[in-house]
Amino acid sequence: MTAQTQADVTIVGAGIVGICCALSLQEKGKRVRLIDKDAPGQGASHGNAGVISPWSCVPQSMPGLWKKIPGMLLDPEGPVAVRPAYLPKFLPWAVRFLRAGRADRVAEISAAMAALVRPNVDIYRRHLAGTGHEHLVQASWYVHLYRNAAAADLNGLGWRLRAAEGAPIEVVSGDELREIEPCVSPDYQAAILVKDQARALSPGRIGAVLADKVRALGGEVLRTRVHRLQRDGDGWSLATDEGELRSAQVVTAAGAWSLGLLEPFGVRLPLVSERGYHLLFRSPGVTLANSVVDVEAKFVTSSMEMGLRSAGTAEFARADAKPNDARARMLAKQTKRILPDLDTADTEEWMGVRPSLPDSLPCIGEVPGQPGLFTAFGHSHYGLGMAPMTGRIVADLATGTPPNLDLSPYSLTRFGRFH
Ligand SMILES: Cc1cc2nc3c(=O)[nH]c(=O)nc-3n(C[C@H](O)[C@H](O)[C@H](O)COP(=O)(O)OP(=O)(O)OC[C@H]3O[C@@H](n4cnc5c(N)ncnc54)[C@H](O)[C@@H]3O)c2cc1C
Repeated sequence: MTAQTQADVTIVGAGIVGICCALSLQEKGKRVRLIDKDAPGQGASHGNAGVISPWSCVPQSMPGLWKKIPGMLLDPEGPVAVRPAYLPKFLPWAVRFLRAGRADRVAEISAAMAALVRPNVDIYRRHLAGTGHEHLVQASWYVHLYRNAAAADLNGLGWRLRAAEGAPIEVVSGDELREIEPCVSPDYQAAILVKDQARALSPGRIGAVLADKVRALGGEVLRTRVHRLQRDGDGWSLATDEGELRSAQVVTAAGAWSLGLLEPFGVRLPLVSERGYHLLFRSPGVTLANSVVDVEAKFVTSSMEMGLRSAGTAEFARADAKPNDARARMLAKQTKRILPDLDTADTEEWMGVRPSLPDSLPCIGEVPGQPGLFTAFGHSHYGLGMAPMTGRIVADLATGTPPNLDLSPYSLTRFGRFH
C-alpha cells in the first residue's frame, strides 16, 4: 500500500458521483485518488434504472402527494414501504419531505434540479469518448405509460415543470405507442414521451469503464474502507483499512454512507437510506427501445446488455438491513402487465441504497470551516443523471474557479442544523 502517497484530491466513494468528480478534476489537471471499499460503480450506481434525462426536474415531493401516501404504504405491492425500526429516523425526514412539496417550494427545487441534469448526456458522451464503450449511453426517449388516456394530461404540474425547462414532450395514443414500443400491452391507452435524452445499457459497466479511464489518466483507484478524516496541516489525512493516506483536498462522495465521515465536523443532515430494488430478466424474449415507466406503479423498465431490468420502489430502512427480495420479485408481475410476452423464468434480484435528502437535491459544496473538504452526495433518485454536472461543480470548487451557477440550493447548511 502506498501509505505516504500524496494526492491533490482524494475522493471517498467510487459510485458514479465520485467517478465523475475524479474525471472532471483530472480535466482540470488535478492528481486524483479514488477510494471505494468495493469495486468502482457497483453500489446504487450499478443497479439503477439507467435513465439519463436532461429533463429530470420533477422533485419526489409534490403538492398533494401526502393524500396518496397512506394508500401507498398500506398496499403491500405499493411503491413505498417503511421498516418499523427505521420510523424514528424516517418520520422527521418525512415531515421535511412533505414541506419540500409545498407549491411555493417546488418551482425553486425544480430549477435547481434542472441545472444539475441539463448537460448530463453531453458530459457522459465526452467522458466515454475514446474508451471503446461509447455505446453504453444510447439515445432514448422516456415513455410514460397510462392505462387511462385522460390521465395523460400535460396540464399536470410535473409536466408543466418539465415544459418550463424546455423539455420536448408529446402525448401519443395507444396505437402510436405500440408503433414505438410494439411489445407494450394494449391495456395502455396513451403515453407521454419525453424526447432528447439517453439511457444506460449497463450503469455498472459505465462506472467500471470510467474508473478505468481515471486510472489510464494517471489517477489512483484504491479498494479500501475509509474510517476517518482528519485535518493534517494544510491538508487532510484519511484513516483506511490499509493505513494512513494524505491528501491536499478530500471529496466525500460516499452516497448513503457519507454522514459517518462528516459528523465529526458538525455536519448534521436529514439524509436517509431510501432503498430501491431491481429485477433482471436474463432471457426476457422481448425488447424495449426506450426507458419505459408505468406512471401508476412507479417503476422503470429498460432493455440492457444483461437482459431487461425493472427498477424502482422505495423502502426506507437501514442501509445494511437485509434486503426484502419480495419487493424485487413483485416487479415480475408488474412488468408482465406492461409486457405480456415477457419470459419471467430466469431472474435475478438486487437491492441498493439511494442517498436521499428531503428536497430531492444533493449537498454539493465545501464544508463550512473546513477548507479543502467537499461534499458530493445525496442524489436520491437522480444520481446517474446528476453525477456529470456534480463532478464539474466539485472540480470548479477544488480549483477555486467560480462555478457558473448558484450553489445555494445544494448548500450543506440549508436544513439549518449545522454546528
Ligand atoms: C432502483 C433504483 C433506480 C434508480 N434509477 C435511477 C435512474 O434511472 N436515473 C438516475 O439518475 N438515478 C437513478 N437512481 C439513483 C442513483 O442510482 C443514485 O442516486 C446514484 O447511484 C448515487 O450515486 P453515488 O455515487 O452517490 O452513490 P453509490 O453508488 O452508493 O456510491 C457510493 C460508494 O461509496 C462507497 N463507500 C461508502 N462508504 C465508504 C467508506 N467509508 N470507504 C470507502 N468507500 C465507501 C460505497 O461502497 C459506494 O460504492 C436509482 C436508484 C435506485 C436504487
